[in-house]
Amino acid sequence: DAEVVLVGRSNVGKSTVMRELTGHDVSTGGKPGVTRQPNHFDWTAQDFMFTDLPGFGFMSGVKDERREQIQTDIVHYLEEYADHILAGVLVLDGNSAVEIIDRHADRGEVPHDVEMFGFLREVGIEPIVAVNKMDKVDDEDERLNAICDRLGVYPPWQQWQGETIAPICAKRGSMEPLYECLRTRFHEAKRDDLLGFV
Ligand code: GDP
Repeated sequence: DAEVVLVGRSNVGKSTVMRELTGHDVSTGGKPGVTRQPNHFDWTAQDFMFTDLPGFGFMSGVKDERREQIQTDIVHYLEEYADHILAGVLVLDGNSAVEIIDRHADRGEVPHDVEMFGFLREVGIEPIVAVNKMDKVDDEDERLNAICDRLGVYPPWQQWQGETIAPICAKRGSMEPLYECLRTRFHEAKRDDLLGFV
């Protein structure tokens, strides 16, 4: 099976996205930092296997040490399985991503989302950015362009529709833009005859 990994900060709606993708209830009860082990799910219709990696970034009630260990575990997992991974879905909260990225950048830190996006590419996993919670975003185009800008992807975002940027609302089951990106990736891999490896 082609493996697709989901990564994202805690509370961006990763579990909700996972539930929509797989039909499995992997609810964390809204508690950040609960999903800590890679979970494998099959999406038989497309022969995908989804792996839910633990949430990264700030988690209330989770010690820095534990947080860093989680981050390290994610990095190791991705490095180890990069060759088998068809796509890395970076889930963002469309309502807060830009603000959080800018806050970290202003402090001279590399924002987690930017770091993860770059890391996925570095290990050869082409990222798909699932911009979730679009129901909370009024200025959709502006916001998506700002996200592109922060990640170093050339705006306008529409250019990356169906390929890299997928505005979704997992809570309402509006997932089509992400399915489209996954289908594109799947067909590209098939065309390149890569599915023998992935
Ligand atoms: P995780 O920590 O990333 O796994 O996040 P969860 O899936 O547990 O979701 C965190 C919170 O975001 C929950 O309260 C969800 O109901 C909410 N949420 C998830 N998807 C959406 C969405 O599309 N829109 C809105 N407004 N909230 C969402």
